Amino acid sequence: MLPFIRSDLAQLTAYTPHPNSTDGKPIESVIDRLDTNESPYDLPSELKQKLAWIYQEAIETNRYPDGGHAVLKAAIAEYINESANLTQGAIAPDQISVGNGSDELIRSLLIATCLGGEGSILVANPTFSMYGILAHTLGIPVVTVRRNSEFEIDWVAAQAAIETTDNPPIRVVFVVHPNSPTGNALTTAELEWLRSLPEEILVVIDEAYFEFSQTSLVGELSQKPNWVVLRTFSKAFRLAALRVGYAIASSEITAILEKVRLPYNLPSFSQAAAILALQQRDLLLKTIPLICAERTKLTHALSQYSGFKVHNSAANFVYVQSSHPTQANKLLATIVQQLRYSGTIVRLLSGGLRITVGSPEENSRTLARLEAAVKSWEALS
Ligand SMILES: *Cc1c(COP(=O)(O)O)cnc(C)c1O
Repeated sequence: MLPFIRSDLAQLTAYTPHPNSTDGKPIESVIDRLDTNESPYDLPSELKQKLAWIYQEAIETNRYPDGGHAVLKAAIAEYINESANLTQGAIAPDQISVGNGSDELIRSLLIATCLGGEGSILVANPTFSMYGILAHTLGIPVVTVRRNSEFEIDWVAAQAAIETTDNPPIRVVFVVHPNSPTGNALTTAELEWLRSLPEEILVVIDEAYFEFSQTSLVGELSQKPNWVVLRTFSKAFRLAALRVGYAIASSEITAILEKVRLPYNLPSFSQAAAILALQQRDLLLKTIPLICAERTKLTHALSQYSGFKVHNSAANFVYVQSSHPTQANKLLATIVQQLRYSGTIVRLLSGGLRITVGSPEENSRTLARLEAAVKSWEALS
């Protein structure tokens, strides 16, 4: 134990992007990485060449990046208005804050609202783990409520938690729309509850999977001074390697986010890539209908197994639970392990498999490997 380190950090475990990835190498040489919800498609080579040219000719590596992100924010605002069918200018560049991945923005929001004993956060599990992890690193208490069998938030319990939690009170509610790992979009009842929350509570709506769901709440931001929408370039825009996320909110909220962030949080190359991705959005987002069609195929194929409960997803992944009466957890753990050995990496999260929708080839390999894993489980039991 290091004597100068905060004692509450000793209990924390770091986020592991690929758990168990060291215990035994898969035997296949082709590894299908379907565990982190990235796009299966790299940037097209002509865009990589363009970016390489920008790096060569336009980026001075001895100079700090643009710390105000002006060009990028203007391009993001235009894309938001276009994709939400708002009039151009409805969302203005000063309503955008850009982060080194949306993870940075989650942390900035926590710093701006709850740090120093000022507040707790509320999440409904299972959901994206980073809200809780980042809160804990900042010493911020996390209040959790559950979801029903269709993964709708138990908002009655959430409301009760908000009314009874003090010292510190709940200041932020985090929701994902559609949720990860379960893939369900917010329902009318959940939305009504979020709309009813008082202005003393910040509502963070994480739309990391917006391009797949095509449902967004940005149109309501103008009436909601206590709402923030988060988006990312890591999923549909195929830029996970370059770490760019953004927050959309009132200009008052974004001014605070600008205050708490590090001055040069986004490297020049990442800014250039995000700007290029937005300029070429028609090309890059062409893969979305294909991924959604593959999602449907994967969902149907998985539903053929009587032992699985497959959930409909509005995102680029599918969540599968086991309906085995006594050995559900063991069955899923065995399948994850078998899939790994045969070359497909998926994640076991909150008692279910989360399988990212890959390319058609990856998905058919995954289904074949799953078939084999289920057969060998049945042979053994
Ligand atoms: C993938 C994901 C993100 C994106 O995080 P980045 O830091 O932008 O890569 C944010 N929220 C959720 C719910 C996600 O699944």
